[in-house]
Amino acid sequence: MKADYIWMNGEMVAFDEAKIHVLSHVVHYGSGVFEGMRAYTVNGKAAIFRLDDHIKRLYEGIKVYRMEAPYTQEEYKKAVLDTLRANKLKSAYIRPLYYRGMNSLGVNPKPCPVDALIAAWEWGAYLGDEAIEKGIKAKISSWTRSAPNTFPTMVKACGNYLSGQLIKMEALELGFDEGIALDVNGNLAEGSGENLFIVKDGVIYTTPISSSILCGITRDTVMKICEKFGYRVVEQTLPREFLYMADEVFFTGTAAELTGVTQVDHQVIGDGYVGEVTKRIQQEYFDIVNGRVTYDESWLTFVEDE
Ligand code: PMP
Repeated sequence: MKADYIWMNGEMVAFDEAKIHVLSHVVHYGSGVFEGMRAYTVNGKAAIFRLDDHIKRLYEGIKVYRMEAPYTQEEYKKAVLDTLRANKLKSAYIRPLYYRGMNSLGVNPKPCPVDALIAAWEWGAYLGDEAIEKGIKAKISSWTRSAPNTFPTMVKACGNYLSGQLIKMEALELGFDEGIALDVNGNLAEGSGENLFIVKDGVIYTTPISSSILCGITRDTVMKICEKFGYRVVEQTLPREFLYMADEVFFTGTAAELTGVTQVDHQVIGDGYVGEVTKRIQQEYFDIVNGRVTYDESWLTFVEDE
C-alpha cells in the first residue's frame, strides 16, 4: 500500500503526511462511510469501473448517517480522478472515505467535522493471485451478520467491518480462505467482503437485501451478465445446505472480483474445480472492466490527462 499522494479535504497531501488526530470520532466509534473501487488500464489509460454507482452508494450512506458532505458528488468525483492523476496510476484500488473528525468524543457525532479523503494504490487479486483461477475454500462463520434493525448493512460504513473482521479472522485461523456469514434467521448472507452466488441445476441464485447484505455493485454487474447470457437469476433467501448441494459457488466484489469457491466446510462443491458457468461469467466480467466488452458507456470513466 503505497502512493505519492492522498487527497484530504481538498488538498493533495504527501502519502507519509496524510494523518488524522487520534481523538477523531471515527477512530473511537467507527463513524465513517467509505467505498472501494477499481480502475483498470484500458487503451493505456486508467478507467474507473462504475464510478457513478460507487459515489451514489457513498452519498446514500452519508445520508443515512446524517452527515453533511462538504463536497457535491460531482466535486468528489473530480477529486477521485485528480487522485489517480496525481499518483500517475494506470490501474488502482481506490478508497474514498468520509469520516467524523475531531471535536468531541460524546457518542453524538454531530459536533465533529465531516472530513474526506481519497486514497489509491496498486492492488492485485484480493484473495490471492491463485484464487481467481483455482478458487478458494470457505467456511460458514460462527458469527452472524447484524440483524436488520441494528446496523444498516446497505451502507458501507466503517463500523460494519468489525463483523467482517471476526468472520475473516476465524476463517483464516481455521485454515480457510474466507468465511460466509448467515443472517439473523440462519439463512445465507455473504462473505466478509463479498456477495455470494450459487449455481444449481442451471439456475443462478444470490442472497437478497433482506439477508443483511451489502448490495454489491459487482453483484449487480453479474446479474446483468446473467441476463445477457440467458441465465435465470433468482434473488431469494437461501438455507445453508443449499451451498453443499450446489453445482458451483462464487463470490463477487470489487476487491475480490469474481472468485470461485471450490469447498465449503470441507465439502467439495461440484467437481472441486472452478465451474464452467463461473468461468464464463468471470471471463465476461474481466472483459467488461478491461473495456473489451461494453454494456453501458457510463460504466468506464477514463482518467484523462489534464
Ligand atoms: N459485501 C460486503 C460486506 C463488502 O464489503 C463488499 C465489498 N464492497 C461487497 C459485499 C461487494 O460489494 P461491491 O461489489 O460493490 O464491491
